[in-house]
Amino acid sequence: MIPPQFEYYAPHSVDEAVALLQRFDGEAKVLAGGHSLIPLMKLRLAEPHVLVDINRIPGLSYIREEAGHLKIGATTRTNDLLESDLLRRSYPILTDAAHEIADPLVRNLGTVGGNVCHGDPGNDLPACMLALDAAMVLAGPQGARTVPASSFYKDTFVTAVEPTEILVEVQIPKARARQGSAYHKIEKRAGDFAMAGAAVSLVLDSAGRVESAGIGLTGVGPTAILALRAGNSLVGQLPDESHLAHASQLAQEATQPASDLRGPMEYKRAMAGVLARRVLDQALARARGGG
Ligand SMILES: Cc1cc2nc3c(=O)[nH]c(=O)nc-3n(C[C@H](O)[C@H](O)[C@H](O)COP(=O)(O)OP(=O)(O)OC[C@H]3O[C@@H](n4cnc5c(N)ncnc54)[C@H](O)[C@@H]3O)c2cc1C
Repeated sequence: MIPPQFEYYAPHSVDEAVALLQRFDGEAKVLAGGHSLIPLMKLRLAEPHVLVDINRIPGLSYIREEAGHLKIGATTRTNDLLESDLLRRSYPILTDAAHEIADPLVRNLGTVGGNVCHGDPGNDLPACMLALDAAMVLAGPQGARTVPASSFYKDTFVTAVEPTEILVEVQIPKARARQGSAYHKIEKRAGDFAMAGAAVSLVLDSAGRVESAGIGLTGVGPTAILALRAGNSLVGQLPDESHLAHASQLAQEATQPASDLRGPMEYKRAMAGVLARRVLDQALARARGGG
């Protein structure tokens, strides 16, 4: 299928891109990897009159630790996450997620910015960003602003990004000693979107008690979900079987799934609890130096 006609611009700076978004005032869409936007256009579910391709903007693709944060540039490819030694070592949740996103063709082009901005509850990175307490750096006509992941997702396909803004960077608090993280999803077919997925990042203190815990969920609500009560229930605990079972139960209760082609809501809800438990175990093992 062929998408409707559109005008195409390929700016060479963020300022130029923002100016174009302003000029076309709600009629323009950012084009990054194109692996969500172009299929929607082919199906006539999105009909932007203008595409602003951000792939020619230099300096937007990087993964680095700086000033207390892990910083990931907007046009960093999913495959770059998969190949990063820094992530494998200190932020394995992102390696896990990248490994489970689609297939090599999609991972080669799909970007981190596109994955977090698309607003599809089936995308895998949003739940990870919620678990990691990430923040999104947006550039707009008024300069830059930072939005916490916890207030970034408004509704299905609706995020805090204004039509005249571009996400330029994702910032994640720098990994600490005794931090463990993990992501896992189940899918109908290899390379498919999640029927349900769970992301966990937790930090232990020197006595092995949970200092902080973030739990994010994929595909079980209108947006990615931060299971706040579930994460908070572990704080201060020396986590044992009952604490982990309780947290997984709370994660399951935080879901609002709908029945669709990916599965019935009862199944998705049950799987969210099962997956939360699995990734809690894995994150804990990693925090303790194993896994
Ligand atoms: C066959 C197939 C299987 C897939 N399976 C999975 C999967 O299992 N898990 C998964 O997570 N994803 C999956 N995807 C989606 C894929 O990961 C996309 O690449 C991703 O969702 C969007 O990234 P993109 O760079 O392609 O963004 P685009 O398609 O270019 O853009 C997506 C949306 O985000 C906006 N946008 C993009 N970048 C920015 C930015 N920097 N600032 C502001 N707005 C921006 C665009 O305007 C558009 O609305 C799959 C895609 C395909 C085709």
